[in-house]
Amino acid sequence: MRFASYETKGRPGLALQAGTGWRGLAEGDAGFPGTLQTLIERGALADGAARLASAPEIDLDDVTLLPPLSHPEKIVCVGLNYRDHSAESGFAQPDFPTLFGRFNSSLIAHGVPILRPRLSDQLDYEGELVAIIGKTARNVTEAEALDHVAGYSIFNDASIRDYQFKAPQWTPGKNFDATGAFGPCFVTADALPPGCEGLTLTTRLNGQVVQQAPVGDMVFPVATLISILSSFLTLRPGDLIVTGTPSGVGLARKPPLWMKPGDVCEVEIDGIGLLSNPVHDEA
Ligand code: MG
Repeated sequence: MRFASYETKGRPGLALQAGTGWRGLAEGDAGFPGTLQTLIERGALADGAARLASAPEIDLDDVTLLPPLSHPEKIVCVGLNYRDHSAESGFAQPDFPTLFGRFNSSLIAHGVPILRPRLSDQLDYEGELVAIIGKTARNVTEAEALDHVAGYSIFNDASIRDYQFKAPQWTPGKNFDATGAFGPCFVTADALPPGCEGLTLTTRLNGQVVQQAPVGDMVFPVATLISILSSFLTLRPGDLIVTGTPSGVGLARKPPLWMKPGDVCEVEIDGIGLLSNPVHDEA
């Protein structure tokens, strides 16, 4: 099942892909099943899909697409999770995941401009797989971990490199407004291979491939990440795990390749979709 979150006339809506088109309902419409967040919390994705299957057809171009989830309680990001990227970034490969947080104030939907801030021109792309938690997870084993995933989507962890490395903690450079592109859709885990192993992630800047790697190259795969995270915190339905980026980032190039106004950055994972965002200057 493939869902898209949207807004129409100030009301949140949820769409389900049906054949080549979409069917959707917004809050206030008869039969509206709730937002994706509420369906995940209630473990009711199949029920929501059943209701949307008989909803009116909608054109996603006629509504405002939102990130699949706009206000996750936690957005846990993983750094240095592909060996080639760790090497190109000048880091020894750590034997424990490098974890940092993003706040939901940085999230934007598919099609919404990634903003180059006034403070810096070092705006870099990072194409990533994102896992969305479906069931509360605390102290789960790797073998149990994937049972706690509701589904997957795509993320561009756009990073302001000079602010990322002003101090040992990366938080500022990973939290500028309008740098966390997320979407366009949410695909349920049952429609994808376990942990998305076997899928390929590709990032294009203005049509040129700048990153391409199998998701299976992750040092800490999704199940391992959930097991480790759940050993010290409680993962809740709707939490995001942004799983890290492969090699090819702009920072590692000579000269560096920064995103600039007028660019278009796409992140594609086969079987999940294509996340595309233009780049604008902050007003
Ligand atoms: Mg990243």
